[in-house]
Amino acid sequence: MSVKIAEKLLWLEEYVTLAQTVVPKIKKLKSIKLLSPQEKKINRIHGQLVKYPEGHYVMSLYLESNHIKRLYPKPILKTYIYSKVDILSTLAHELAHLEHWDHTPQHKMLEAKLTMLFMAKLAENGYISEENEYSNRRTINDSKGTY
Ligand SMILES: [Zn+2]
Repeated sequence: MSVKIAEKLLWLEEYVTLAQTVVPKIKKLKSIKLLSPQEKKINRIHGQLVKYPEGHYVMSLYLESNHIKRLYPKPILKTYIYSKVDILSTLAHELAHLEHWDHTPQHKMLEAKLTMLFMAKLAENGYISEENEYSNRRTINDSKGTY
């Protein structure tokens, strides 16, 4: 595996390895970085892929988003932590961009194929549901989960 993965995203390694079978251009992916939403700023982005003129790619993923919870009397932002299902769906979407840069039907088909592989592996790894993931996280450390 030549992709350098951020420490908090290391659990994705086996999924990236799995993707190699259907995404040959994964060889051009240099790293998967972790981005955090800026404090007090709305963020609904899940991930992004940047293509460099030299021909390689860098992916960034978010583990959380900031949404407006309440506007009055004072705006309040709430941080939501993405589930593993969410993060793997984002990984499938961004990896599919390595082969199909635009949002073409071919991109969506590859994304679906990757999602199938990832969800099968996630189930195999014992994952039950997002509801289960969130309730475990609340009891363990007040919803500031690590992955
Ligand atoms: Zn996209």
